[in-house]
Amino acid sequence: MNGEAYMTETQETRTAPPVEKNDEVLADIVGISHDGDGVGRVDGFTLFIRGALPGERVRAKVLKVKKQYGYAKLLEVLEASPDRVEAPCPVFRQCGGCQLQHLDYAAQLAWKRRSVVDALTRIGKLRVEGEPGGTGGEESTDAQPLSARESSGVAPGILVHPTIGMDEPWRYRNKSQVPFGYFREGAKKGQLAAGFYAQGSHRIIDMDSCLIQHEVSDRVVARVKEIVRQLDIPAYDEERHEGVLRHVVVKVGVRTGEVMVVLVTNGPHLPKRDLVVQDIRARIPGVASICQNINSARTNVIFGPETKVLWGREVIYDYIGDIRFAISARSFYQVNPVQTKVLYDKALEYAGLTGEETVIDAYCGIGTISLFLAQRAKKVYGVEIVPEAIADARRNAELNGITNVEFAVGKAEEVIPEWKRQGITPDVIVVDPPRKGCDPALIDTIIAMRPRRVVYVSCNPATLARDLRILEDGGFRTVEAQPVDMFPHTVHVECVAFVEIDY
Ligand code: SAH
Repeated sequence: MNGEAYMTETQETRTAPPVEKNDEVLADIVGISHDGDGVGRVDGFTLFIRGALPGERVRAKVLKVKKQYGYAKLLEVLEASPDRVEAPCPVFRQCGGCQLQHLDYAAQLAWKRRSVVDALTRIGKLRVEGEPGGTGGEESTDAQPLSARESSGVAPGILVHPTIGMDEPWRYRNKSQVPFGYFREGAKKGQLAAGFYAQGSHRIIDMDSCLIQHEVSDRVVARVKEIVRQLDIPAYDEERHEGVLRHVVVKVGVRTGEVMVVLVTNGPHLPKRDLVVQDIRARIPGVASICQNINSARTNVIFGPETKVLWGREVIYDYIGDIRFAISARSFYQVNPVQTKVLYDKALEYAGLTGEETVIDAYCGIGTISLFLAQRAKKVYGVEIVPEAIADARRNAELNGITNVEFAVGKAEEVIPEWKRQGITPDVIVVDPPRKGCDPALIDTIIAMRPRRVVYVSCNPATLARDLRILEDGGFRTVEAQPVDMFPHTVHVECVAFVEIDY
């Protein structure tokens, strides 16, 4: 955590923190950190307090004090936020998979937009419509169309739209990876447990239902637990590196209804394999693929190098829009297909394609965006660093009969300059980098290539803002940004920005 981002002026000049470990304090909560903790203030000192919400006054016990900030445990909410809701998941506090279930969904969406606005203004030093320093004042955010704002003579700030959320923000994930093991303590010590790792540890907390996972996933895990108990198949004991079943991975084609079950085992032998397969086939509707992945290593990594099909196909299929994707046990696929469609539709709109354009899709993964764009462009070039992802991208292009795409394996910051030397002149460049954002060499190349538009898909507002600032200084202008909620109830903020050349 970068605590400095939350420092107050008082803190910058102070020598010693005003609180000590184990102190009980009253804190006023002024924000939510990137990790979802409440950002509290005690005498101008910053304390991160998990579970506290902005606007609240809480009693908390100090756990750890650093020079500039500290951490405290929430003891009591004295004045609750009107946006506070009861987290529906009973293990919300222990799990850590979701961070914001205690915040009303509409407030989550508002917070995500606010994260984008704050990053653009503070880190990017960019002007945002309706923000201090932006044009138009508080009320104008979405009121005036761009043309009206432009004709006022003042260069418009960036229009940051309200976050597009889900109508039904539960059960949205199409992939779950559930660890199997044993209770290590308490009344159930030695009994089978399957669920999730407790925050910051490898202790398995048993769980029957995860509210952000597809229902089928709960059903598969419950069933496998039953079978493992009945047939006495040993689960994996991580401490002793013994036993068999390590993880059950479930993938669901949300549109096709197809289900893949992957049993990850510690070694090639899966006892009573045929009975297990028979039972899953009989009990799980839609199952199209049952695989075994072998992982004999002492490692946190879920999958091992070898995957065998035990029954059915090697892949399941799903769609995003009209494009069909083959999903194998190991291949990457977006986990929220409904919102992926929303995000890519927006990216497509921002690309402004007519069918005549040459487009580059940087950080293309399995080619999801490339194939989406190819339907409306003359030619799409995709580049991605992971060779297996490019193999999937090529297979997916073929599966859909899409021929106007070309994929390359390599670093975007090396391959795209090479394309430039070869004389490729893109009209539009789409980037979808990992959290650390674009490599500076890539941004320089984009500036030198001068595409008409840049569409920036980002999973980290801070690096988005940093990169947009460089593009801005290089003669581009950010027009709009659209946050899309890909991961309801978590702190992940996804956003697509539309950048054009500043004529
Ligand atoms: N656009 C894809 C996935 C984007 S995730 C989709 O929509 O599915 C970011 C991708 O960037 C990952 O697949 C990662 O492997 C890839 N990547 C990371 N660093 C890279 C680099 N320097 N050059 C090219 N690709 C990179």
